[in-house]
Amino acid sequence: MKIKSAEFVVSNTRVDKCPDSKLPEYAFIGRSNVGKSSLINMLTDRKTLAKTSAKPGKTQLINHFLINKNWHLVDLPGYGYAKVSKSTKRTFQKFITAYFDKRKQMICAFVLIDSRHEPQPIDMEFMQWLGEHQVPFCIIFTKADKLKPKMLEKNINHYQDKMLEIWEEMPEFFVSSATSKLGQDEILDYIEAINNE
Ligand code: GDP
Repeated sequence: MKIKSAEFVVSNTRVDKCPDSKLPEYAFIGRSNVGKSSLINMLTDRKTLAKTSAKPGKTQLINHFLINKNWHLVDLPGYGYAKVSKSTKRTFQKFITAYFDKRKQMICAFVLIDSRHEPQPIDMEFMQWLGEHQVPFCIIFTKADKLKPKMLEKNINHYQDKMLEIWEEMPEFFVSSATSKLGQDEILDYIEAINNE
C-alpha cells in the first residue's frame, strides 16, 4: 500500500468520543518506549505524525489518524509504566477494555514488542486478554536494527516458544525498524489485503 495521505483526526480520552465512522481501524499498542510513535511515523512516511509524550504515562489518549481517506490508524496509550499508581493502572485497563469492547470497526490490533527483550509478563497477559476476548491481533517486533541478525532470530524464536505455551499457533508477526524502514511494506500490505477482502 502506498501512503497517499495521513491526517490527524482527533485525540480523546473517552472511547465514546472516538470518530463516529464505519471505516476499518487498526490499533497500535505496546509498552512505553517500545517504539510505537517511531513505527507510526515510519509506516506513514511522516516525521512527526505521532508525537512522543513528554510525560510518559500521564496522558491516556486515543489518537485517530485517517490514512488514504479509507482507514483509521489508532494510536493507543502505552502501558507498563513502572511509576504509575495502582489506580492509574486500573483506569488504563478499563479504558483499553472499553476500546476493544466497543469499537466494532477495530479490525486488528498490532501489539508492539521490543525485539531486544525477553517476553515480559505484562505483554503476555495483555495478549492473553486479547485472545480471550476474541480480539484479532498481530505482533510487531520493533527496533530490529539494534540487534545482530542471529540475536534477532534467537529472540524471536524464544518468543515463539513462549507464545506456543499459551496458544496453539503463533499469531501473525512482523519485524520492524523505524530507522531502516524494515517491515513497512509488509505491515501496510497486510492491512491493505484485509481492507480489500
Ligand atoms: P513510544 O514511547 O513507544 O512511542 O516510543 P518512541 O517511538 O518514542 O521510541 C522510544 C525510543 O526508541 C526513541 O529514542 C526512539 O528513537 C527509539 N526507537 C524507536 N524505534 C526505533 C527503531 O526501530 N530503531 C532504533 N534504533 N531506535 C528506535
